[in-house]
Amino acid sequence: MFEKVLIANRGEIAIRIMRACRELDMKSVAVYSDADKTSLYTNYADESVPLGNPSPSQSYLNIEKIINAALDTGADAIHPGYGFLAENPELGRQCEKNGIKLIGPKGEHIEKMGDKITSKQLMKEAGVPVIEGTPEGIDDVEEAKEIAEAIGYPVIIKASAGGGGIGMRAVYSEEELVRALEATQSVALKNFGDATVFIEKYLEKPRHIEFQILADEYGNTIHVGDRECSIQRRHQKLLEEAPSPIMTEELRERMGESAVKAAEYIGYNSAGTVEFLYDNGDYYFLEMNTRIQVEHPITEIVTNTDLIKQQIKIACGEELEYSQSDITVTGHAIECRINAENPLADFAPNPGKITGYRSPGGPGVRLDSGVYMNYTIPTFYDSMISKLVTSGRTRNDAINRMKRALSEYIILGVKTTIPFHKAIMRNESFLAGDLNTHFVDEHKKGIEEEMEKVILEDLERVNRMKSTFMPGKKIAAISATVGTYFNAAQAQQMKKK
Ligand code: ADP
Repeated sequence: MFEKVLIANRGEIAIRIMRACRELDMKSVAVYSDADKTSLYTNYADESVPLGNPSPSQSYLNIEKIINAALDTGADAIHPGYGFLAENPELGRQCEKNGIKLIGPKGEHIEKMGDKITSKQLMKEAGVPVIEGTPEGIDDVEEAKEIAEAIGYPVIIKASAGGGGIGMRAVYSEEELVRALEATQSVALKNFGDATVFIEKYLEKPRHIEFQILADEYGNTIHVGDRECSIQRRHQKLLEEAPSPIMTEELRERMGESAVKAAEYIGYNSAGTVEFLYDNGDYYFLEMNTRIQVEHPITEIVTNTDLIKQQIKIACGEELEYSQSDITVTGHAIECRINAENPLADFAPNPGKITGYRSPGGPGVRLDSGVYMNYTIPTFYDSMISKLVTSGRTRNDAINRMKRALSEYIILGVKTTIPFHKAIMRNESFLAGDLNTHFVDEHKKGIEEEMEKVILEDLERVNRMKSTFMPGKKIAAISATVGTYFNAAQAQQMKKK
């Protein structure tokens, strides 16, 4: 086993990985930029190494600095988490050169699955269902028109190198096609340094359902159940649940088999996720994420597994602890991503200082957080500050727990997605499990109205408890909370409504 693991990441995921290391009796090393000197994870680690300048390219994306930090501290292995270097094959190559183990997949697997055109082609060969579309890049307008016509509108133009929801555009008619093609190519070139785009059928109301995969170096590949991730903004997930409300044993077996086939076909060996779009009883391969994902905790809860520990053990050369028949899905879990964003203004980032903080607890509540009272969220990185996960015997139990946990979770000073999640927990369609990837847009008005109500309802409770999370401070919590989301005049108006 490893003695010391360097975590090439920050925030909540760095702590999550350090927790696994501690349980495995391994020392952890944090790396931190100047903006993360006071971050929770930097201080949670057994050792920490400064990276200097906060810009990602000079800190968390700088392979040379990360490798040197591992060599200087004598770390045996590096865990890249998600984002940053997690899907950069160069990190693996540099690790190998320097005799350090990478806790993650091989570079060739990252490369095969990182390109949307290549991965779709491979999956077709493997016999995994894919969405109808062009098998290669398209740059000729006339050809694009013919293809779109043959597939039938609406179609979607996607950057082959795309990720993070960037570089895709739905097109409903030939008139829109020319402009969309150019626009997507230019976004792709700007963001990914590669203008290659392709066309596929646009599914109008699909669900996003994905399967967790674990595979070791001895050819054992299993799936660890499904997750529903249809609640998204700008093609990025906000809330996930396991299992999907529409999942049946039969469907899980079918989709799970496809997911295993996908991983086996490329000889994958680490934790990974195969994402599908589900539409009217059919499902199609979307992409494979060759890393641990943000939403992995809900799977851990309903299958009683520890995915990070498994990932570390696989990298140590151990065999998988579970076989497919050991994996049973029990109960239900929901994850709400708590982002420092203004949910009332199109989720605009809202970094800043946390002036009041009280975390939820009690039965069935897991909080993976990277923040604390008086912490200042830096402006340089992702806006996600924590993940609130609840579970229960049924979906309804998990929802009721989430409502309760959200009501206990108090963050003042910065706007967060807490009111958004509270509004979702009251939404009739969500409660009925009636979801698709456009859920947030379709319910925008209702969610916004509900959010305003929720913020006002919170005031009394926040005020009652303020001595427990703002000790010694004479701040009127009412104005503090209102001030977090609205100014006083707006609040007055809303109260009248
Ligand atoms: P990224 O790699 O940028 O995350 P994905 O290919 O995984 O992109 O797609 C992200 C999201 O975009 C999906 O969850 C879905 O909401 C939407 N999407 C992608 N392809 C299609 C499609 N063919 N039809 C409908 N929606 C799509």
